[in-house]
Amino acid sequence: MPSEITLFYNCTILAIDEAGSVAEAMAVHDGMILAVGTLVQVRQDIAAFMAKDNPGTGHEIHVIDIDASGACIVPGFIDSHLHPGLYIYFKTQLDLSKVRSLKELEQAIKEDDATRPAGEWIFGKDLMEDLFDDPGERHFPTRRELDRAAPSRPVLVIRHDLHICAVNSAGLAAIGVDKDSMAGLAVAGGEIRIDVDGEPTGVFTELATAIPLERTPMPTMDRLKVAGKLFSAEIASHGITTFGGVVQLGEEGIAGKAGAIEMPLMELMIAEHVIAQDMVFYLVTTKPRQMKRIDTKLRKIDGGAGRLVVGGLKLYADGSFGARTAAMFEPFSDSPSGERGFMIRDEAALLALFKETDELGYQVAIHSIGDKANRVVVDLFSRLGNGRPLTRRHRIEHASTVDAGTIADAAKLGITFCCQPAFINSEYTWLEARLGADRVKQTYPFKSILDGGVALAGASDAPVESANVLKAIQACVTRHGLVPEECIPVMDAIRMFTISAARALGQENVKGSIEPGKLADFVLLDKDPRAVPVDKIESIQVRATYHRGTRIF
Ligand SMILES: [Zn+2]
Repeated sequence: MPSEITLFYNCTILAIDEAGSVAEAMAVHDGMILAVGTLVQVRQDIAAFMAKDNPGTGHEIHVIDIDASGACIVPGFIDSHLHPGLYIYFKTQLDLSKVRSLKELEQAIKEDDATRPAGEWIFGKDLMEDLFDDPGERHFPTRRELDRAAPSRPVLVIRHDLHICAVNSAGLAAIGVDKDSMAGLAVAGGEIRIDVDGEPTGVFTELATAIPLERTPMPTMDRLKVAGKLFSAEIASHGITTFGGVVQLGEEGIAGKAGAIEMPLMELMIAEHVIAQDMVFYLVTTKPRQMKRIDTKLRKIDGGAGRLVVGGLKLYADGSFGARTAAMFEPFSDSPSGERGFMIRDEAALLALFKETDELGYQVAIHSIGDKANRVVVDLFSRLGNGRPLTRRHRIEHASTVDAGTIADAAKLGITFCCQPAFINSEYTWLEARLGADRVKQTYPFKSILDGGVALAGASDAPVESANVLKAIQACVTRHGLVPEECIPVMDAIRMFTISAARALGQENVKGSIEPGKLADFVLLDKDPRAVPVDKIESIQVRATYHRGTRIF
C-alpha cells in the first residue's frame, strides 16, 4: 500500500522539547512526527527510514515536499480546561459580550425578540455588566430592566463567568418562581435575590442559577450538531488540537438539569464525528464511579486511538471574583457589605471525593479561585497524600489568588495548576479594585508559580472566556500592565499551552512537543512569537492547524 511522508521546510520550528530546540525542517508519516532538524538531517532520516521500511518490496512511499514559506511551526495547542458542551450550547444563543449599557442590552434583546416565534425563550450569554460605560449601571440587571426590553417573552441573561443570571417577569412566571414558591426552591450554595417586598428580583447566583437554567428548553439536536461543527472549527482556528473537556454528567453542576444533556451531547458529537480534536474529559459528578463507566464506553468507541479518555473528576471549591463568591480570607475590597465568598462544599465531603477518585486511578480537577479556597484545597491534597507528594497528577483549576506559602506547598505535593490567562484580559480593569493592592499581587501570579516549581498548564475555560491561545499567550507576557512583576517570557507561555498542558492531561509522551515518535499535531503561525513586539503576539495569524498529520484548519 503506498504511503506518504510529508516534508515541511522553509520554516522555523519551535520544538518545545527538553533542549529547547529550534529546527528548520520536519517530516510527518502516518500521523506521527518522523524527523525534526536541519533540512539535510531530515532528508537523511527520511532516506534511512525508506531504506529500512521499503527494502525493494514494491511497497511505495512518496515524499511530498511542502514549502512552509517562512512559517513558524509550534506543537498543536492544548487547552487543558474548556467546557465543550456549554460552548456548543452557547453557539445557539444571543451573544451579549459587546453590550456596554442597559440601553444596548435592551436593544440586543429587542432585535433577537424580532427573530423568534412567540413564546420561545431568549437566552442571552456573556453579559459583562462590570464593563458598562456608566458606573451607575454596573449591577446585574433585574427582571424590571429586562421587562422593558421584552415584556411578554421569557428572557434569561447570564454573566460571562456563568456565576450569576437574571430572568424577566415572563420568564419567572414560566418557571414558577414567585414570592410564594421561593422557600421551596432555596438551594444551599446559591441565592435567589429578593427586593424589599420579598419579591424575587429575577437574579440568581451560584448554585441557584440552576433553578432557571434547568427549566429553559433545549435547542434541537440538528441545531446542536451545527453548533458542534462551529465549535471544533473555531478552536482549530486558534491552533487547538487537544482539549480537556469539563462535562457535567447529571444535574449537579453550574448548568443544573440542563447540564445533564452535556454527556449525551458529547456522545452525539463523537458518534457523528463532529469534533476534530482529541478530548480528555473531566466529569462533574459526586459519584466518581461514573468515571469508570464513561471511560470504558469511550475507550470502546475510541478503539485504542487515544482520542477519547476520561481524565478525572471535576469539583468546585468556590465561586468567582466577578460574582464576589470566590472564598477569600478577607472581604472583597469593593464590597459594601463585606462579602468574602464561601466554600461550596464542606472539607470532609471534598476529601472523601478526592480519596475515592484517587483510588479509582483518576485525577481530581478542582475549581478554586479565592486565596482561602486555594489554601483549603492544597491542605486537603496534603491530607490525601498524608503530607507526601501525590502519586497522581491532581489539578487545581484557576488557582487564581495564591500566596507564596500555598505555591510552595503545592509544589511539594506535585499539584498542577491549570490557569486561564484570558481571565486577565477580562478582569484587569476591575480586579485591583475588587481585591485591593496587596491581594492583586498574588492573583494570576504566573511567574511566582513557575519560579516556585509548580507545574503550570494553560487553559481558556471557554466559553466563559475566548479560546484564542495567542491572545492568552500575550496576556501572560504583558498582563495589560497588571502587576508586571508577574509577566512571563513568551516561550514559558507557549509551554503552558503545549508540553505543560499535555502533562496536565497525562499525554506528554505523545503530545506537547515536536519530536520523532510523537503525534503530528502542530500549528503553522505566520510569524515567530519570539520575534514580534509583545503587544503584537495576538495579531499573529494561525495559517494552518494539523491534527495527527491531517489539516483541520
Ligand atoms: Zn471551567
